Parts: sequence; C-alpha cells; structure tokens
Amino acid sequence: MKIVYSEKHAQHDPQHFVVRGTKLRSAEQPERATRLLGAATEAGHTILPPKSYGPAPAATVHTPEYLDFLQTAAREWAKLPGAGPEVVPNVHPARAHASYPKALAGRAGWHQVDTGCPIGPHTWDAALAATEVAATVADMVLAGENHAYALCRPPGHHAYADMAGGFCFLNNTAVAAQRLRGKHERVAILDVDVHHGNGTQGIFYERDDVLTVSIHADPDHYYPFFWGHAHERGAGKGEGFNLNLPLPLGSPDAPWLEAGDKALARIHDFQPTALVVALGLDASESDPLQGLKVTGAGFHAMAEKIARLGLPTVLVQEGGYLGDDLGRNLVQFLAGFEKGRGA
Ligand SMILES: [Zn+2]
Repeated sequence: MKIVYSEKHAQHDPQHFVVRGTKLRSAEQPERATRLLGAATEAGHTILPPKSYGPAPAATVHTPEYLDFLQTAAREWAKLPGAGPEVVPNVHPARAHASYPKALAGRAGWHQVDTGCPIGPHTWDAALAATEVAATVADMVLAGENHAYALCRPPGHHAYADMAGGFCFLNNTAVAAQRLRGKHERVAILDVDVHHGNGTQGIFYERDDVLTVSIHADPDHYYPFFWGHAHERGAGKGEGFNLNLPLPLGSPDAPWLEAGDKALARIHDFQPTALVVALGLDASESDPLQGLKVTGAGFHAMAEKIARLGLPTVLVQEGGYLGDDLGRNLVQFLAGFEKGRGA
C-alpha cells in the first residue's frame, strides 16, 4: 500500500498533560509515528513524502481565527512573564454565553478544550504537515488510486472547526473528507479509534453530504465524555447523518466487529462514492489507554470488512499509543484491507 509520511511530525513533542490532577508525560509522543513507520516499512509498504499545500487544506474545515491562534500562540505565549514552555489554558468559557477575548490566556481557553493539547513552539508546523499528508493521500485517491494511508501525527479527530483537544489540533480526517467532496457528492467517514471522533462529528454535524460514523468506548465513562452518545444524530439538514456506536469499556473483538457491521450497513445505505477511515489503533487490548480489548485479528477482520465496501478509501492515522502491539496492529489492519480488496 502507498503510505504518505512527513518527518515534520517530530517537531511536535508535547511534554505534559494532567490526569486526575497529576502532571504526566503526554502519551502522544513522536515515537508513535516512527514505530508505525518502521512496522509499515518492514512489511514492504511504499513510503512517499507529502506535497506542500500550506494552510489551504486546513482552512477548508477550520476557522481563520482558530488557525491564526494556532500559528501565533506559542510565540506570543513565550513573551508572557513566567510563561511555561507550552500553551496550556487555565480558564475556559465552558457553556455559558461568552465573547471572544483578546488576551492570549483567554484565547487559549476558548480554543483548547482540555490540557491534553499543549501547544509547543513547533506544534503548528507539525499539525500543518499532518494536514498536508492527509490532503496528499486524498489527492492520490481523487487521481484514481484505489486506497492509500496517511501516516499523520499529531492526530486530528478531536479537533473541531475552532477547538483543539485530546492531542489533536487540525482535523486531518475532516481535511481528507472535504477534499474528496471536490469530486464526490457523498463521502462517508468511519472512525474506529477507541475515542469518539467528536471534532469530526462537530465539523459535519449539520451537513447531509458527509456521513460521520464512530465506533468507540462509551463516553459516559471515557474521553471525550461530553460527546459520542447514541442520541447524537446530527442537526438541521444533517439530522440522521451522524451515527455513534458506543461500546461498554473493555469490549473485545466480537462486539467491536458487530458494531462494524452496523456502521458499514449505514454507510452502504448512504451510498457514498468515497470513504475516509479515521484509523485509531488505540482500541487495542495492549494500548496503554485501555478503553477496549481488540486483538490484531480483530483489526485485520475490521479492515477486511471495510475494504469489501469497494469504495475509494483514504486511511488516516488517528490514535494508538506506545503499547507492545502498535506496529503489529497497523500491519494487521493494512493486510486485512488489502485482502478485502483482493490485492
Ligand atoms: Zn483515540
């Protein structure tokens, strides 16, 4: 399979996030991508560089004010007295009626939903490169490639049009889907990351041209907590074009694959002509975040089912952390996909 990868991801190396009041090393480390790359290379896949697009692809799904914030925040932050090395908000507008502030601390709270998305000096460069990786793969598929994989980092599916969160800044999956819309009237997104794809859902929530489907650990008990419930079905014109399939924490292969069947049935009904898979590998039984218990065979089987849809497909890397099986699970997924395509 053709894989697009940019080493610029390594410029984003988030140091901390706060879990239960304790400052921990972020799980979203550059080694994730190098491990995935190593495993894919060893399995014989072809690695290609991205094209340069600048911020144009990101601007198709994010607001100008948010892009300006991401691009300038670290530089401005460093000028503040006593500033730490990363932009981390300490104040949030929450759900109250609010106005957009001028002060950087306020803008940080507006645009960063949690402490899991600290902005370092080169976060913008890495996140922008990830959107270029996704856009490059989308363009390959638009040009006739049957399927290809965007090895993106940082991930993107928790990023809304104007809000970062959960290790994500720019929504690579949404960028790919929007780009496919240039030629395809209906595009479906299937998110198999262990976390609900809340940012992707948010971006397309009121649209009927992009179907969003997510299979994830039950948000009543798991990040992102506030989104991902079965009753969230879309709004306005988009009502009925969002499907959430939450699973009890710790669910193994069988219920995960059954949810996959439901997801694929809905996608089939929607009759899209292209598909984006938000490929989180953190549903793994050996993932340190421990939401679900999917095995390598489970990833292989899910990929095979997805591939049998026969749609031109962009695979976009989302989560998946430094557990023992990270690289192996990617290789299993890619092999399952190629098997399903009869390659
Ligand atoms: Zn995840």
